[in-house]
Amino acid sequence: MSRIQGLGMMSRRTRQRMVDRLGEKGITNKKILEVMANVPRHIFLDEALAHRAYDDVSLPIGYGQTLSQPWVVARMTELLLSLGRPEKVLEIGTGSGYQTAVLSPLVDRVVTVERIAPLQRRARQRHYDLKCNNIRYHHSDGEFGLSREAPYNAIISTAAPERIPQSLLDQLAPDGVLVIPVGTDQQQLHFVYRDGDSDQFVTNIIEPVHFVPLVAGELVHS
Ligand code: SAH
Repeated sequence: MSRIQGLGMMSRRTRQRMVDRLGEKGITNKKILEVMANVPRHIFLDEALAHRAYDDVSLPIGYGQTLSQPWVVARMTELLLSLGRPEKVLEIGTGSGYQTAVLSPLVDRVVTVERIAPLQRRARQRHYDLKCNNIRYHHSDGEFGLSREAPYNAIISTAAPERIPQSLLDQLAPDGVLVIPVGTDQQQLHFVYRDGDSDQFVTNIIEPVHFVPLVAGELVHS
């Protein structure tokens, strides 16, 4: 039996332990906990790191990028769903595709953008293997959101800009929500909602976080 198959067999139990810890630390949304108990986090990592998949830590995924720790994934997902189930979600920073796979069963549609094409290709294959079929992929600079598919009921960014890009606010549907880390050395997770169909945005600062930066400009093709 390969190491990864062995992990597959063990992973349900270790995943349940991970989810129990998330519950103890304050994640109350049962649906999110259920989804995180089902999504095999170890397949989103290289084989050499797969044994650490269920520790509550962020892990490298190549190209200087990281897969967020389970707590942060759960917290951001909970915020994203806090005003109701969003139909259409824009995710900035596909990365390994783990956050996307957690969102997929919780919303109607996910549109995900990534600037590093090989990361997005691998993520896409993993989603195909897991039969997540409500995800659309775009290789583009998420700083500008993705106007061609806007508006979105919710936007989540897993990379941190220095300040919130106006284009993301513009692409929110009425009552839409944005969950995004903001800052450089000191980052704070921000939760923003659009008040009805007005141009009024209400911002709440949630907690300190540490994300890779949102890199504007050139895309990585291979
Ligand atoms: N959600 C991911 C986290 C990946 S880290 C996961 O679950 O694995 C953040 C990702 O944002 C990286 O893959 C990085 O390449 C991407 N990113 C950074 N700046 C970006 C930009 N301007 N446009 C699109 N993606 C960007």
